[in-house]
Amino acid sequence: MLTDDFITLTLEKKKSIALIAHDNEKHALIEWCKEHKDALEKHTLCGTGTTARMITDQTGLPVKGYNSGPLGGDQQIGAKIVEGRIDLVIFFSDPLTAQPHDPDVKALLRIAQVYDIPIANTRATADFIITSPLMDEIYEHQIINFHKNISDRAKSL
Ligand code: PGA
Repeated sequence: MLTDDFITLTLEKKKSIALIAHDNEKHALIEWCKEHKDALEKHTLCGTGTTARMITDQTGLPVKGYNSGPLGGDQQIGAKIVEGRIDLVIFFSDPLTAQPHDPDVKALLRIAQVYDIPIANTRATADFIITSPLMDEIYEHQIINFHKNISDRAKSL
């Protein structure tokens, strides 16, 4: 059934991928990037500051760096998701260490869910995503119609 509660967003063949790793996971993400360098080269890459710098230095992949995660980098990536500028996130988070910016991490995970963004928190999930045939195809997905959401809320309050 057609409804205006949702709008269609299109992920192009060339995708915008955000790469983030907590400190204990940075080497694992760099190894993963080396392993999948051929696939990653086809897309546009960005990441939190330290992660982006280390991936570029150690793999040669161009990764646009935002601020470091604890200084707001996760929030910047969340904002880009809201603007429709990031298509998927590879986020090797550390499940065993408390993070000073835990609220920002939660906010990023939540906003990725709101905008139906594929997000990998483990290497296995990242492997499944990067080898998916959808990586090289146009993909359409439905997200909440934020224009209608505002207009409905403004009318009802
Ligand atoms: P970093 O940030 O890439 O600057 O280390 C990642 C994070 O801890 O969220």
